Amino acid sequence: MKIPSPSRLRGEEGISGPEPLTLNLGWLLYGEELDILERVHVIIENGKIAYIGNGWSETGLTIEDGVAIPYPLNMHTHILDSIAPEACSNYSLPGYAGSKGLKHAIIRLGKKDLLKSMEWVINKTMYASGIVDYTEDYDFCSYLEQAFSKKGLAYYGLSRPKQNTPEDYLKAARKCHGIGIANPLKLYPWEKEVLSKISREKIVSAHVSETKNMARKSDLYYLTSHGVKPAHIVHGTFLDRRDLKYLVDENIVLIVCPRSNLLFTGKLPPTGEAYEIGVDIAVGTDNIGCIEPDIWRELEIAFMQVISRNRAIRSKEFFASFIGASYKALKEKPLFINENSPARILIIDGKQIGFNRSFDKVATLIKRVTIKDYILSVTAKTIQVFDRNKIIKQHK
Ligand SMILES: [Zn+2]
Repeated sequence: MKIPSPSRLRGEEGISGPEPLTLNLGWLLYGEELDILERVHVIIENGKIAYIGNGWSETGLTIEDGVAIPYPLNMHTHILDSIAPEACSNYSLPGYAGSKGLKHAIIRLGKKDLLKSMEWVINKTMYASGIVDYTEDYDFCSYLEQAFSKKGLAYYGLSRPKQNTPEDYLKAARKCHGIGIANPLKLYPWEKEVLSKISREKIVSAHVSETKNMARKSDLYYLTSHGVKPAHIVHGTFLDRRDLKYLVDENIVLIVCPRSNLLFTGKLPPTGEAYEIGVDIAVGTDNIGCIEPDIWRELEIAFMQVISRNRAIRSKEFFASFIGASYKALKEKPLFINENSPARILIIDGKQIGFNRSFDKVATLIKRVTIKDYILSVTAKTIQVFDRNKIIKQHK
């Protein structure tokens, strides 16, 4: 493995290898407190953050207005329907995504096309350093994991059995990161017993109370009976205060998808109330064929929902809790920018978003970043340059 030269860095992918890479940056959000350090250098070695120091080093690459931030995760997607963008238009949620919905026919017919358009899908998902994908076919998980890792992105596939047998549940969990349940109300008691076992080792996740009808039938409590311990649930659009308290007590992360809920149910999830009660909240974009997987657009709505209830909540606290909850939902240690942490860093063009002049720098990130402001990312395996016109200077 070798370190990319600056000329290679311009517009190409490089490998984050054993030779140290030094980056001189305008700002860096340090640790889980997201302390804003100014004019720092970071040394990356063997895919880890080896050192963070004050001032600029005489060697390395300088990104004068670069802001290094923890690279967020997109916590809920469905990749496979990306083969038919906007097929969801004019369909209701059950008509599109229900068990007999249009989406499943499209996927059955077009699975092979997905493999042809993988490059497009992966580029589309680079808004985030990794995605959690409810995949209809567990045989895709290892392929997708490899395809994503070539770009330094993490792929967390949550699948489901193809045959309704305990063996096939275990197979799906083994081949992927765990199980993603489309509708918990359809589970038989024996399935919950299998899921209870799986949830002790792997991730068990489910769409919960996405519709009023699901909430009315108490899908959250139905899911968690028989000892199922989901690491996270998705949507929660129609959860009430008692349900949200239950999530806190049971240590279950809530993944909200505000734009998807608006599109399909005309209602936003209770993000503000959930945050106030102390629920761990992370954010996902849902169906890629239907909604641009831009995590910032989602995060901005969630942030506005939270601060509109309580103006005293600080943007830093919100952003840190979002990063922490994302990893907790995957049963992993959170990756903030700390010495000795594996690198998962995104560098944003601070000049474009007015970061230097901002009175609330983290709010500026949440509300103003677009993928056009991405300069480069460093993950444990790769260095990815987003825009070859952005200024990266080399020091001798
Ligand atoms: Zn979903």
